[in-house]
Amino acid sequence: MTVSVVLFTSDLRLHDHPPLRTALKSADEIVPLFVRDPAVDRSGFAAPNRLAFLADCLADLDAGLRERGGRLVVRTGDTVSEVLSVARRADADEVHMAAGCSAFAHHREERLRRALETDGRRLRVHAGVITALPPGAVTPQGSEHFAVFTPYHRRWAAERLRTPLTPPRAVRVPDGVRSDALPARPAAASLSAGLAKGGEREGRRRLTSWLGRDVDAYEARHDDLAGDATSRLSPYLHFGAVSATEVVHRARKRGGAGAEAFVRQLCWRDFHHQVLSARPEASSEDYRTRHDRWRRGEEAEADLRAWREGRTGYPVVDAAMRQLAHEGWMHNRARLLTASFLAKTLYVDWREGARHFLALLVDGDVANNQLNWQWVAGTGTDSRPNRVLNPVLQGRRYDPEGAYVRRWVPELAGLETRSLHEPWKLPDRERSALDYPAPLVGLGDALDRFRHARSLD
Ligand code: FAD
Repeated sequence: MTVSVVLFTSDLRLHDHPPLRTALKSADEIVPLFVRDPAVDRSGFAAPNRLAFLADCLADLDAGLRERGGRLVVRTGDTVSEVLSVARRADADEVHMAAGCSAFAHHREERLRRALETDGRRLRVHAGVITALPPGAVTPQGSEHFAVFTPYHRRWAAERLRTPLTPPRAVRVPDGVRSDALPARPAAASLSAGLAKGGEREGRRRLTSWLGRDVDAYEARHDDLAGDATSRLSPYLHFGAVSATEVVHRARKRGGAGAEAFVRQLCWRDFHHQVLSARPEASSEDYRTRHDRWRRGEEAEADLRAWREGRTGYPVVDAAMRQLAHEGWMHNRARLLTASFLAKTLYVDWREGARHFLALLVDGDVANNQLNWQWVAGTGTDSRPNRVLNPVLQGRRYDPEGAYVRRWVPELAGLETRSLHEPWKLPDRERSALDYPAPLVGLGDALDRFRHARSLD
């Protein structure tokens, strides 16, 4: 009887799972294993919204395995020690897992490989499980990663992706391998009230419904803040409850301008993962320094607090920050304009903003969050690093009727649309009747400060 361990990390699904299918082919029995590693929590993962989503994903994975005759084994502790202990207990020759992209994941793989080899066992790391195309699969001449999106997209789009795999029909797990209880969701009071439900089933349901119809309008409507016309698949992709490879295949099969634009966004996900894989320090250090001397001190702290609380006095920024607090998710256009507001208009270090996003986002992801923040701050891969998004123009353009602001900033709901994005222009009496702050800073002054700081004058 041969046994393999399948270590699940950011790939919490049964469909299109190369490590699982390979292990099932080569061994009679497998141990599907998930390790709750305190080191992952310490590295900033343990935000309540993500822990809740993770609990949903693990419960669903366990249920899916049980339907096939198996179960999920959960352990708590250092990943390497726990995998080794399970492999010894089950007498497993091989451990299969998906290749990760972060410095943490690379280090974990290396430690695991060494420990297993010393024990006479083998680690098999599978590429292209977490992203559609593995980092490093396409590279420009003379570099190990693409630093610019457009040429990356050209090469990415021309690559053939592997064919998605069906889920296994049966899974046999050896007796005698102890499991901790599945992790519970954190207390509701610590969670965003409108948090999405996690799990592979829910992710697949959303994917099918999205590709069934709504994707067709994606190209035209993806920036419509109030329309909510994007897939909302990001947390399912982050936890691997749906496979990026399968999503690309199915979207291409659907075809049309909407699906094409949607696939291009999935390429952005791979793009950031290949940057992080090659430059892991970009999770905290500027990818390209602009020698910023970010504002610090009490006034900057107060501005940061107002931004976090959605009380900057700029309605579309405040609406977006309140959506984040309420749902643990924010629309992409809203992420762009709130990040630009913090890093460029308030000129506060992008790391402060990224930290706040990571504390709340259910899809909070080192590659996508940190590198998108860097892109917006102009320290990343944007070829126009000094562009500043004007929150009034962004509001008028992407929330022309004001429905998004009215939804999230109820104290402005009664205003006429023409005043909604600039309430400070109302006559004094009307303005002072609103329970809404004056703008933290004038946009002209902020622009001068930024241009001066970046020596653009
Ligand atoms: P859709 O528009 O339906 O796009 C489909 C998928 O493509 C998304 O689910 C996502 O996986 C991927 N995608 C879309 N846009 C991007 C992008 N700009 N970069 C990388 N992948 C993209 N995305 C995260 O998954 N995690 C994060 O932590 C994260 N932080 C961000 C921080 C900032 C400052 C900004 C500007 C963007 C961030 N994004 C992040 C990217 C993007 O905003 C979200 O992926 C998107 O809003 C999720 O909604 P959706 O699933 O409806 O996206």
